[in-house]
Amino acid sequence: MTNDTNRGGLTAAPSARPLPDALPRDGYGPLSLYAPVRPAVDHDLSDNTNQWGAPPSVAAALGGVNPVVLTQYPAQPTTALLEAIARYNGVTDARAVMASCGSDDLLDCMMRGLARPGDRIALSWPSFSMVPYFARTNGLEPVLLPFTHDWDANADALLAANARITYLCAPNNPTGTPLTERTVQRVLDEANGVVVIDEAYAEFSSRTWAKEAETHGRLVVTRTMSKAFGLAGMRVGYAIGHPALLHEIEIARGPYKIGALSDLAATTALTHDAAWMRDRAADAIAARTWLTSALLNMGLAPLPSEANFVLVPVPDASAVAARMAEGGILVRAFTALPGVGDALRITVGPPGVMTRCIALLSESLAVHA
Ligand code: PMP
Repeated sequence: MTNDTNRGGLTAAPSARPLPDALPRDGYGPLSLYAPVRPAVDHDLSDNTNQWGAPPSVAAALGGVNPVVLTQYPAQPTTALLEAIARYNGVTDARAVMASCGSDDLLDCMMRGLARPGDRIALSWPSFSMVPYFARTNGLEPVLLPFTHDWDANADALLAANARITYLCAPNNPTGTPLTERTVQRVLDEANGVVVIDEAYAEFSSRTWAKEAETHGRLVVTRTMSKAFGLAGMRVGYAIGHPALLHEIEIARGPYKIGALSDLAATTALTHDAAWMRDRAADAIAARTWLTSALLNMGLAPLPSEANFVLVPVPDASAVAARMAEGGILVRAFTALPGVGDALRITVGPPGVMTRCIALLSESLAVHA
């Protein structure tokens, strides 16, 4: 499959917001996606790959995997993966979907492909720490704006930033808090540039904007196989958006970012284990309710989460986390988070793990009291 030619021909819905100007990005104009056509042949001598096969230890470790999957360059990604992503998200046209090695990489590529050095990316803060990181490495200026007192994005402030990219994270990491429908809709209606909604935790939440992304014109939704689908080690993330926007992001991404085994794992999980994933997401939501109550019973004030983690303010969070790690449980400590102060971010897990975590947290807080 050649993604660039396949993206041709799909026009935005009449109601879609027009693409921002200056696409393709300065200097990207002459580039086209490297998208080799690979007919089925007996011997592919076109790519300088090993014609004697894969290392025996690897082939043995991977059991039934066809050795050709190991020795040849993968499709980028396969049509099967793009179609599985589209089906799972209720997106009608697979050309409105692209994938790469984690949604991290999609955020990085999008900053390169849709913005120019010196442009602004606006986001409510605190949020996903890699966003200002990728902004800096791509020469963009991150504009970090406060949330409202109840953890909604401040639409006025985001719009006033007049940024090339507006980043919304729903539910937000590290707070776990959702955004209101009204705020997201207003940003989608009024932002001048591209809006990205990072939905890494959407399976644990009640709202997704994936379907709107297919037709909106300026919205890109990013999602991942790393969280609810349990495949963080495989590194597969995907984006949904208007094909013309995705094309620019693909140019910035380049070829061969998803390994063949990762492609296979993600396609298989989306096709055969969506029900398993939904059951595990339900387990995570039940665990989140339990953990939140347990923290409240300890006199702490966890933030209301719609993700698979809970952020709870505690004094001297780094010392508490270090003490918990000695007891065998690692949680993420944050120091002086805006609007929160010191806090621990605790991923939810099965009941036995949660009970142990709460016991250890109580002990660790007592030691540091
Ligand atoms: N977005 C958010 C909000 C995240 O928390 C993470 C992972 N921590 C990512 C994106 C990146 O996920 P991945 O690269 O594994 O898809």
